[in-house]
Amino acid sequence: MSAVTQESPEAFRARVRSWLAGTEIPTVPADPDGRFAVLRRWQRTLFDGGWAGLAWSREAGGQALTHAHQLVFDEELVRARAPQPVGLIGLEVVGPSIDRYGTDRQRRELLPRLLSGDDIWCQGFSEPEAGSDLASLRTRAVVDGDDFVVSGQKIWTSWAHEAQWCALLVRTDPAVRKQAGISYLLVDMASPGITTRPIRQMTGDEEFCEVFLDEVRVPRGNLLGGLNDGWAIATHTLGSERSGANLRRRVELEVALDDAVAALRAHGGVGDRARAAVGRAHVAMRVLDAQTRQTAARLVAGVGPTPADSVDKLVLNDVEQTVFAEIAGLLGALRAVPGASPSGLRSGHWAHEHLYSRAASIYGGSAQVQRTIVAQRLLELPRG
Ligand SMILES: Cc1cc2nc3c(=O)[nH]c(=O)nc-3n(C[C@H](O)[C@H](O)[C@H](O)COP(=O)(O)OP(=O)(O)OC[C@H]3O[C@@H](n4cnc5c(N)ncnc54)[C@H](O)[C@@H]3O)c2cc1C
Repeated sequence: MSAVTQESPEAFRARVRSWLAGTEIPTVPADPDGRFAVLRRWQRTLFDGGWAGLAWSREAGGQALTHAHQLVFDEELVRARAPQPVGLIGLEVVGPSIDRYGTDRQRRELLPRLLSGDDIWCQGFSEPEAGSDLASLRTRAVVDGDDFVVSGQKIWTSWAHEAQWCALLVRTDPAVRKQAGISYLLVDMASPGITTRPIRQMTGDEEFCEVFLDEVRVPRGNLLGGLNDGWAIATHTLGSERSGANLRRRVELEVALDDAVAALRAHGGVGDRARAAVGRAHVAMRVLDAQTRQTAARLVAGVGPTPADSVDKLVLNDVEQTVFAEIAGLLGALRAVPGASPSGLRSGHWAHEHLYSRAASIYGGSAQVQRTIVAQRLLELPRG
């Protein structure tokens, strides 16, 4: 065990604070291209400072610390009003699966660039006819010499138009049970035959895309895990998405609510409606606090993926939507107006967060499906 591994969370927190105090925190522009560029540079700054992949192995370019340290870092980053790095799908969703299931070569070649933001990753799971029923996916990969040849379509692929790499689920055996014929490929987005088409969301951003794959050649060395073993790895990836992100999001919500309360306080007299809204949002936050304490304990103990990840996701969905709806509700008609409202709340920010929060109960697996997972796999209720 290295000296760094033994650093207590308290000592680590002091080190993070001191680094943040001496580091220029970037201002994030509103336009998507500018925002992307600034956040990518910020990811590089975090990597160079030794703050990327805190719980990842050294071979992967990480710091071999624990999830408890990651949690401390996330808290301090958000409290310093610093933005998140841009490559969150790589950092929180796909990367942990490559670290766990990848070959030495895959980890060595791919993960340091993922951590530094040199490579942005996307997650090519959903298809037009395979979202909740992901195992029905139809994108085909056929072995041809040293390559797979991949054809099909993905949809809702966040950041595909900016990504250098994609974690792609493909069908490699159509003759067996759905889950048993899926493989997990690591695909270079510059490969000939890949076309991305952005889709505009109701926030106005073009965050996700359709991705078309037309006889794309992917080296066999880019298979993650074994042939037809992709379903178990996909479950690991989705588990990271459902639980790990909870910890960071909790602090972001807490800070957002603190800022809203401070703005309302500074505004002076607060009416009954506003007081009730803030009260509801505060109570929702306390529920999330309690839940994330359990999540952190599970992650630190290395437990997962587990059906309990779905509980995390459901609690976070509800709280996120409650907090943003309550505060955005106070803005009334000002919701549509960018800039500051008379109450001191930043209306553009709250309106954007409120609209984006509607997606929280869809991405990473819809709320309805998570509830079924809780009933069937956590509580072991038999199917009717
Ligand atoms: C902002 C955002 C970003 C996303 N990013 C990505 C990404 O990067 N990569 C990626 O692969 N995907 C991504 N997705 C896609 C997301 O994973 C899917 O939208 C989600 O899994 C639901 O699938 P679907 O859209 O096909 O809806 P469907 O599966 O068609 O579901 C439609 C409705 O039916 C309900 N339903 C379906 N089946 C059941 C059932 N068995 N029981 C009860 N209710 C059911 C669902 O809950 C939902 O309300 C993203 C989605 C959003 C909103």
